Amino acid sequence: MNNLHMRFPEGRDKCLTLSYDDGVQQDMKLCELMKKYGIAGTFNISTGNYSKPGKVFEPGRYHRPMSFEECLKTYKDQPLFEVATHALHHAFLPDIPIGEAVYEILEDRRNIEQQFSVICRGHAYPCGKYDDRTISVLKSCGIVYARTIVSTRSFDIPENWLVLNPTCHHKDARLFELADKFINDDVRYAPYLFYLWGHSYEFETDNNWDVIENFFKRVSARDDIWYATNIQVYDYVQAFNSLIYSADGLTVINPSACDVWVRLNCKNIYKIPAGGKVSL
Ligand SMILES: [Zn+2]
Repeated sequence: MNNLHMRFPEGRDKCLTLSYDDGVQQDMKLCELMKKYGIAGTFNISTGNYSKPGKVFEPGRYHRPMSFEECLKTYKDQPLFEVATHALHHAFLPDIPIGEAVYEILEDRRNIEQQFSVICRGHAYPCGKYDDRTISVLKSCGIVYARTIVSTRSFDIPENWLVLNPTCHHKDARLFELADKFINDDVRYAPYLFYLWGHSYEFETDNNWDVIENFFKRVSARDDIWYATNIQVYDYVQAFNSLIYSADGLTVINPSACDVWVRLNCKNIYKIPAGGKVSL
């Protein structure tokens, strides 16, 4: 019997992804830090809540949405960043009529696609609020993954991508314990995904930008970690799940457009090229 486990691109054992919400001004600083350390991630924005250009916020206000121009400058055409939906006006989708819920998702999606020249398929639930109807709305609107605010404190690959539970928030008391485990564990079986989420304004309110920079210093520039946006992780896992195997499991066809890496019996790593066939 042969055991086969997914590996991330180039055969890596581990993947790190970030998810930060609300498109606030503090994202500019977070993005600079992410670029400095080569960390990738997803920004969930509400395109109906852009602030007016040059808006002056009252002193002490920490939740300061960026203007459209600021968002473009911060996120557009940046390979490390993905922009995803967060509902057009940050609506709590279970609490509004279904037609409004559809509008909140689809209009946000259309805006992001037009403004950032991308195809947008991701979502983060505002304040983590969702129900069965919300999930069905997202599916109808072409959304393939949606992040909750429920921490798993694990590195498991998600099974239900529309109830995508993150590893933890950056305020989690166990953040650095989890980071050390993520770095130090020798991964023999299923690969590890560290999924971190939060709001960048929290670094201002808590006066602790050092937390995220220390986290980046700890986890960055490692050969065994793939630094990816949420949608890159999703698409890669779909490509792995689409592999076609012979009865003995030793011949593999990759019908996808994405190279896939696998590890056989906790030993050798194989690359299954996009559209290719490999004997393990
Ligand atoms: Zn939010």
